[in-house]
Amino acid sequence: MMSQNNISSPRRRSVGVRVGTITIGSDAPVIVQSMTNTDTADEVATAIQVAQLARAGSELVRITVNTAEAAKAVPAIRARLDDMGCHVPLVGDFHFNGHKLLTAYPDCAKALAKYRINPGNVGHGRKRDEQFATLIETACKYDKPVRIGVNWGSLDPEMLARIMDENAKLTKPLDAGQVMRKALITSALESAAKAEELGLSRDHIILSCKVSGVQDLIAVYRELAAQCDYALHLGLTEAGMGSKGIVASTAALSVLLFEGIGDTIRISLTPEPGGDRTREVIVAQEILQTMGLRAFVPLVAACPGCGRTTSTYFQELAESIQAYVREQMVSWREQYIGVENMTLAVMGCVVNGPGESKHANIGISLPGSGENPVAPVFVDGQKTVTLKGDNIAGEFRHIVDEYVRT
Ligand code: SF4
Repeated sequence: MMSQNNISSPRRRSVGVRVGTITIGSDAPVIVQSMTNTDTADEVATAIQVAQLARAGSELVRITVNTAEAAKAVPAIRARLDDMGCHVPLVGDFHFNGHKLLTAYPDCAKALAKYRINPGNVGHGRKRDEQFATLIETACKYDKPVRIGVNWGSLDPEMLARIMDENAKLTKPLDAGQVMRKALITSALESAAKAEELGLSRDHIILSCKVSGVQDLIAVYRELAAQCDYALHLGLTEAGMGSKGIVASTAALSVLLFEGIGDTIRISLTPEPGGDRTREVIVAQEILQTMGLRAFVPLVAACPGCGRTTSTYFQELAESIQAYVREQMVSWREQYIGVENMTLAVMGCVVNGPGESKHANIGISLPGSGENPVAPVFVDGQKTVTLKGDNIAGEFRHIVDEYVRT
């Protein structure tokens, strides 16, 4: 297998934050997280979706806590998950009324492993300070970390007005993009400083500044990363649907991760109606794996196909083997060390097929992928067998199973 040189920048130094059983920042790997879209008050549906996300590989799962019913359901969701053997840490997402809910429902405050608060949605004027203090004091009381998550769609209007006033007085005023970035970063850093004044230690604070534009996100995080050593949560907000959301998130996060910026990521994809929520977890894992930062599941290299391919057989085989190894990883991970680093190749013809197959741990090339496919298989660079007939996929899976076992 061909190894990739690591040419990315060293990881930015950040203060590690313990969230339940995992660590975000410092020397910990970049953590994958996701968020449910169920009504949290529906404890059964929420516990099921959290478990699905965790099974797919989400190492933290955020749930919205927006009503008294949702807050009351949180301890029951935690208990259901623990009963299922799913101990993924839960993060509570609070806007507008978090101070009330965390105070009124201490069992909810205790069951969550982290609180996410948005400084733009905490309140206004003197109430803002009081409500922010209540949130932070609750976090201190229960020893919980907090993500101060600023979003450009909900910037604190008073702070934005202040920054715009200051900018207007400058001899060389900043442009609109610079003002927006300054507002996002100021909101995050001033809120973090206030949280520290209120007693929350640096190793309990994570920051995020989310925007929906790729270039804006890169610029904001570069500036934020240079100005502090808090652990950083990366994510493009409102990334969008389908390929647009995946491409935009990948473009933005890849640049930042390449520069060593980012301690945890969330890919915010808009699911198709009834679509699978775990897609965002798989995309997050694939970004980290493709960037050479972590390995989760053996990835299948496959050629795009062209006029030389006489059927869709090899595409079907590539898809089915990728789905198979993803499914098997749940048990393989527990039994075998390093399986996630295995590489597979499924190729459509002899032009690049044998060469690419030899570079993978296990590769298959389908030179005769018409009516009667004939497929040489390469294991660690050596041709071992040629598969024929109507059960090539099943026999190839068997070869992969054997390789993992031995
Ligand atoms: Fe086409 Fe063969 Fe290249 Fe695949 S390996 S893209 S089938 S030439």
